[in-house]
Amino acid sequence: RLFVPEDLWDAAYEDRPLEIGAGQTISQPYIVAYMTECLGVESSDSVLEIGTGSGYQTAILAELASQVYTVEIIENLARTAKERLEDLGYNNIRFRVDNGRKGWPDEAPFDKIIVTAASDEIPPGLIEQLREGGRMILPVGVASQELIEGEKQHGTFQTHRKIAVRFVPLV
Ligand code: SAH
Repeated sequence: RLFVPEDLWDAAYEDRPLEIGAGQTISQPYIVAYMTECLGVESSDSVLEIGTGSGYQTAILAELASQVYTVEIIENLARTAKERLEDLGYNNIRFRVDNGRKGWPDEAPFDKIIVTAASDEIPPGLIEQLREGGRMILPVGVASQELIEGEKQHGTFQTHRKIAVRFVPLV
């Protein structure tokens, strides 16, 4: 079962973004659940997440995967999320402040990659860091965005278009 904080429910119900500080917003719980389901996270997986934000999606991933690596570009958000998730007792998450477009080369390859900010293209570095047979989901587009999900097969990323979404930009 997915635990959903009350203020997040309210924001989703009223169809408005929920602010998490530093001008950033969290996805409504349906989208977090949908993206998690599309990824098909397994208990042995090593997962890379780009866009830690509040750490909500990170916590969901940590419940399902063996190890989560999460990258956030805004230091304040990364620090707060780290404190929050450590207080909650998660010990299978590693945090990093960096530009997530570069991924986390030292810990690659990853079984699954999830990006929770939208870019105009699929960052090539992330495809490189995906294990053969691994899966990635990310929002792509500028004015209008859609979720792209795909698998790495024979070194290339085979994509499927999922649903229309609205994410903050990947800077
Ligand atoms: N998944 C988050 C919400 C993410 S909002 C949650 O559950 O709360 C998108 C986040 O991506 C923001 O925190 C933003 O600062 C971060 N971000 C934007 N561009 C980034 C980049 N290039 N590298 C890493 N993080 C980035």
